Amino acid sequence: MAPELSEKSVKTRIADGSEIVTPWWEIDAGGEGPTLLIVAAQHGNEVQGTETIRRFAPVCTEQLRAGTVMLVPMANLLAIRHRRNSVKIGPEEKQTELHRANNMNRLWPGDLEGNDVARVAHSLHEQIVTRATHMVDLHCWCRLWAAAVLACDVGESSRMAEIAGLRFINWSEAPDDLDLPTQLRKLTVSRGLAAITIEFSGQFCVEEHQVLGGVRALVNLARMLGMMEGEPEIPSESGIKVTDERKMMVEAPCAGLFVQAPDLKLEDRVEAGQSLGHILLDDDLSTVEITAPEGGWLWRYGSQREAPDVSLPDQHPYCDAGDTLAGIITA
Ligand SMILES: [Zn+2]
Repeated sequence: MAPELSEKSVKTRIADGSEIVTPWWEIDAGGEGPTLLIVAAQHGNEVQGTETIRRFAPVCTEQLRAGTVMLVPMANLLAIRHRRNSVKIGPEEKQTELHRANNMNRLWPGDLEGNDVARVAHSLHEQIVTRATHMVDLHCWCRLWAAAVLACDVGESSRMAEIAGLRFINWSEAPDDLDLPTQLRKLTVSRGLAAITIEFSGQFCVEEHQVLGGVRALVNLARMLGMMEGEPEIPSESGIKVTDERKMMVEAPCAGLFVQAPDLKLEDRVEAGQSLGHILLDDDLSTVEITAPEGGWLWRYGSQREAPDVSLPDQHPYCDAGDTLAGIITA
């Protein structure tokens, strides 16, 4: 018999005495099996995972054969309703004291007596996170950066990263000593459990290509864990490892307006010498062609400066000499 979706919620009393109700879904196939937790929108402007989870839920009710899936599409409602990365912060704010204090993904396992975000994290942790055997944390970074899996290259986390089937994997060292509070994925891995993060490309938006890649990744993981029948569908040229040695950054030779090549987008394969676009110079209105110095896959694309994930000026197509125009992971 097909498993049913249970609508659940976690209630958190916040400082002003009111209650934050975080809705979530549980789909239980009954019997033995892993408990796979999928979390989205810890950051309020990163909502592509929310739609990914909504699409994944009916796949679970149709196809789940073993174990339990716990789906939290809107982990940080305070930040979503604020329409920014974190509650209380202003436009283009990052790594300030206010941001650090309210950044949900630095506050695990939460704090019953802490600020409102830490309290929500605490109740999610107690009622949901502690039950999980496997975890996927869905985020979004800047629209000029390609989607990627972030994972520690250890045990089952490595396998999950590869099975997800995204173009890129960004490996990091396993955390050795853990200062709490910390990130949800670090906390999970430090407990000997398997976890990955997926960074979709694009904040403040939901794009079909990203959502489809996300749903395929989640189905692949459920198949890998024996929770759904069938083999994972892993596209060719996926799981390309992002390392410092393979990263080739293309910098602007002069100031002007950088215009990307038509029909070229993130994740695309480029050949050495291929046009990446042009710069229209702001002193004499001449045009300078920009070409790929080496072949590989587009990992970053578009004029960008220090913090394009939070700053609109930092993703403006007007570049200064030395600004990043593209990043290529060489073949
Ligand atoms: Zn995030």
